[in-house]
Amino acid sequence: MSEGTKIEWCDHTFNPWWGCSQVSPGCDHCYAKALAERFRPGRKIWNTDDRLIFGMQHWEEPLRWNQRAWARGRSESVFVGSMCDVFDPDGPKDQREGLWNLIADTPYLDWLLLTKRPDSPLVREVRASDWTNLSVGVTVESQAYIDRIGKLLEIPARSYFVSFEPLLGAIDLRSRAGRAHWFDYIEIGPHTHRKINWAIVGGESGPGARPMDADWVRTLRDDCVRVRMPFFFKQWSRRSGPRREPILDGKTWRQKPPARTWKCPPSPAANCIGAGL
Ligand code: SF4
Repeated sequence: MSEGTKIEWCDHTFNPWWGCSQVSPGCDHCYAKALAERFRPGRKIWNTDDRLIFGMQHWEEPLRWNQRAWARGRSESVFVGSMCDVFDPDGPKDQREGLWNLIADTPYLDWLLLTKRPDSPLVREVRASDWTNLSVGVTVESQAYIDRIGKLLEIPARSYFVSFEPLLGAIDLRSRAGRAHWFDYIEIGPHTHRKINWAIVGGESGPGARPMDADWVRTLRDDCVRVRMPFFFKQWSRRSGPRREPILDGKTWRQKPPARTWKCPPSPAANCIGAGL
C-alpha cells in the first residue's frame, strides 16, 4: 500500500483490502476508519460487509521492495493491516489468498501481520511450512484482552509481537495461570514452546483520545528489560496540540528485532537468505 511509512516501527505498509468491523474498545477511535471516510467519502467499508480492493499495481509493489531488499542484502519490514484486519470474517477470501502467496513470493521481506482476532478460524490458513518471513502480532489494549497472547502463539510463524496500542489500562503480565508470565515461553503443544519476541506501546491520539498513565508504560518496559526483549515506545496519548516526544525516564525506547542480512549470489535465489533467520 505504501512505500515508506509514517509508522516508525516498520519500513512499509501493505493492505490486501481496506475495511473492517470494530471488535473491542481499542477500535473505538479507529484511525483507519477515519482515514477511509476521508479518502473514500460515501463508501461504507466499516461495520458492513463491503471492503475496498485494489488492482495489480498495488499488489506488485511489495515485489519491488523484495527485489531491492535482496540487492541490498538486508530485509525490509512490511506492516500488514494498517487499514484492515486480515482475519476479519468479512475480508475477501481471494485477497487473503493473494496475501499468503505474496508473502511466500517475497522471502527478503519481513512481514508483520497485526490482528485483534487471533481466535478466528481463519488463522488456520497460515501454513507453518511457508512462514520463514512472517511475524504475527496481536493488539492488547487492556487486561481484558490479555488472552489474545495465548491464542497468538498458537499460530505458526517465524516470530511474535504484541502491540499495546492504544494502551487503555495497566497490564499485569503475571496474570497467567500458575503465576507464570505472558512474556515467558508458553507451552503450545507436546514439545512446542513459543514466546513473544517484541513489544510496542503507544497511547491514543486525536479527538477524544483516552489518557495513558506513564506507570502503565513503565511496567511493560520493565517486563521487556527483564526478559531482554526489544521494547518500542511509540507515543504518549494526545488529544490535540504538538506531539510530546516519547521519552520515558529520560530515554527513548525504539528497539526492534534485527533485520535479516545476507551476502547475495549473482541471482536472487531463495538460498540467498542468511544470518538472522
Ligand atoms: S480491528 Fe483494527 S482496523 Fe479493525 S476496526 Fe479495530 S482498530 Fe480498526
